[in-house]
Amino acid sequence: MEKTYKIKIWGIVQGVGFRPFVYRLAKSLNLRGWILNSTGSVHILIEGEEEKIKKFLDDLVKEAPPLSKIEKIEKEEINLSENIIDFSIIESKEDTGFNFISPDIAICEDCFKEMRDPKDRRFNYPFINCTNCGPRYTIIEDLPYDRDKTTMKIFQMCERCEEEYHDPESRRFHAQPISCYDCGPTIWIDGEEASNIFEKIGKYLEEGKILAIKGLGGFHLACDATNERTVIKLREKKKRPSKPFALMMKDMDMIKKYCYVNEEEEKILLSKERPIVLLKIKDPRDISEYVAPNNKYLGIMLPYTPYHYLIFDYFPKNLIMTSGNISDEPIIKDNDHAKERLKNIADVFIFHNRNIAHRVDDSVVFVENKELNVIRRARGYAPYPIKIPIKIKPTLALGGELKNTFSLGKENYVFMSPHVGDLKDKDTLQVYEEIIQEFIRLFRIEPEILVHDLHPQYLSTDFAEKFKKYMEVKAIQHHKAHFFSLLLDRGITDNIICFSFDGTGYGEDGNIWGGEVFIGNLEEVKRVAHFKYFPVAGGDYAIENPRLIALSYITKYLPSEIEKIFPHIDPFEKEITKKLIEKDENIFYTSSCGRIFDLVSALLGIREKIDYEGQAAIELEMEAMESDEEDFYPFKMIKEKETFKIDIYPTIEKIILEKEKYEKKDIAKKFHNTITQIILQISEILREEYKINKIGLSGGVFQNRLLLRTTIPLLRNKGFEVFTHKNVPTNDGGISLGQIILGKE
Ligand code: ZN
Ligand code: ZN
Ligand code: FE
Repeated sequence: MEKTYKIKIWGIVQGVGFRPFVYRLAKSLNLRGWILNSTGSVHILIEGEEEKIKKFLDDLVKEAPPLSKIEKIEKEEINLSENIIDFSIIESKEDTGFNFISPDIAICEDCFKEMRDPKDRRFNYPFINCTNCGPRYTIIEDLPYDRDKTTMKIFQMCERCEEEYHDPESRRFHAQPISCYDCGPTIWIDGEEASNIFEKIGKYLEEGKILAIKGLGGFHLACDATNERTVIKLREKKKRPSKPFALMMKDMDMIKKYCYVNEEEEKILLSKERPIVLLKIKDPRDISEYVAPNNKYLGIMLPYTPYHYLIFDYFPKNLIMTSGNISDEPIIKDNDHAKERLKNIADVFIFHNRNIAHRVDDSVVFVENKELNVIRRARGYAPYPIKIPIKIKPTLALGGELKNTFSLGKENYVFMSPHVGDLKDKDTLQVYEEIIQEFIRLFRIEPEILVHDLHPQYLSTDFAEKFKKYMEVKAIQHHKAHFFSLLLDRGITDNIICFSFDGTGYGEDGNIWGGEVFIGNLEEVKRVAHFKYFPVAGGDYAIENPRLIALSYITKYLPSEIEKIFPHIDPFEKEITKKLIEKDENIFYTSSCGRIFDLVSALLGIREKIDYEGQAAIELEMEAMESDEEDFYPFKMIKEKETFKIDIYPTIEKIILEKEKYEKKDIAKKFHNTITQIILQISEILREEYKINKIGLSGGVFQNRLLLRTTIPLLRNKGFEVFTHKNVPTNDGGISLGQIILGKE
């Protein structure tokens, strides 16, 4: 019996070869009908024998193209339509509903082979791509995903490209960024003739020049990672004294010469997302120590665009590939802007004329306990949505201040922006507002609720204030946002004990929180424990100078030790700190776990002044990694009105005692073990009291690999079910997902 069905499919089904796949499938089964792209879905009309339609539907899911992701299928039987005699792909149409935009995809194996084939017409073509690879989000100006709605629209396809584009048998059938030497974008060195470009790039790198290279989602600053003078020059010019730079290495063999790579790490390095993976250094060989000072890990990625490979043809060494920006501003994406902003940094500019519609940085991940941890979610991952276990109204969550991302959500999907940067100045704020507008337009979600951080001084809070007239504006406490972020990220709907440990967040009582323990679920959350507040004198200056955090603590609790511990600190600084503590002026009280790491780092003389966020804690962790000390320090837990206060006074007292006798690395390790013990003991007490067995870890402190390595197996051994973040960062890059909870229906 003949039947006709209308089918609608949502998900990543555009720009991934889905239509040609359906076309071929229908043809092979002798079915008639059509397929078209709509704004957020594909529509199919299928007609023919019932049996064959059944097979069609089965294979549709089973054999879908590798890059597609089907979220939902709807099927409806309709009356037999008249004279459809064939199966065809018809013109796209606009529709309402969800939009799914594919992230950008690293060059595929087939394209790589063609690019390396001297007989192929795209031999060494820098922009080769197909339906299985290439740019997506970064070139999409609007939906449905068709060439005239991408930044490729200015390139008129040549005859041969056109042929491939319309040939359902071709790998480039409806590949929107399709192009070749005759018709596609070009790459050039600013101010120079467009010939032997890659040879010249190699020469410049060899000479120790700094290059601004326009990439997939923005500019990179690139230079020879083995040339110490150039690396130092880049640090000075980029105003980035010691925060590690990422590297690009030409292949896996090269990476394995420098770093340990386990099976999971190798898989991720080679994945279609191609993020930067933090790898343990085996032998730094010729890499300058200024690439990642005082670090045991290197952030490394493989080439992901065709032209990255072409660069390595003429430059056999390793490249620093760091975001083209100044300190933590958003990445620069346009030629003119790059020349203006980066003119004092780069010696040479490499431009191309495929415009970048949306900026996107490289993603950064690491693997610990065989689990993937995302530190920066951007290229390859964004803007694929996070599916959440609750329904929300159209909501825009503005995120935090550092490592900002925002989230735009509706029903059970949340579209998180790629990493934006630190929202500290007007320029960044302007880019942030632009990206928000783009998201609202692209995903067709008009927010009804706006959520911001409780902090009264965040720029995002000001931004939210402006919209009070137009929509409902709500504030959420920072660490509660971390809590909900974890629950939504992992789809946890029942009760959980969650440790929300990070650097800084404005607390509900006006103090600075950061070492919080919550119990709750997606309906409610309760603060059940936190580190005992301690005073820090000097405000933001103290955060940049951890010695002042240590000095404040010692001045308050162990004043007799000051001279012994800080003989080297300026007497004036000691005097002021003492006065401020006595008078209780220009002081904040904090329960921050991150600040406790800073305190210990400074106390041990590891890091007294920082130039990037988290530096003191990271260097303390690196020191501790050298030790196999298993002991931990004493600490106190006091229960006051339902809430546990964790007092680290005994820990600090003991550290001061041991400082004279023991090695730094052992003290650092014992301190890490102490935090692990605190987590374990609180977990056990709360499990007993509330009968909850799930433990969550969220917040920047859990980027500490040593802490994850010691804490998670220990908790699991005691029978706990442990959850860390999977899709979004555990740092403040993940909090916008948690903030979205206030949009709950
Ligand atoms: Zn390809
Ligand atoms: Zn062409
Ligand atoms: Fe945080």
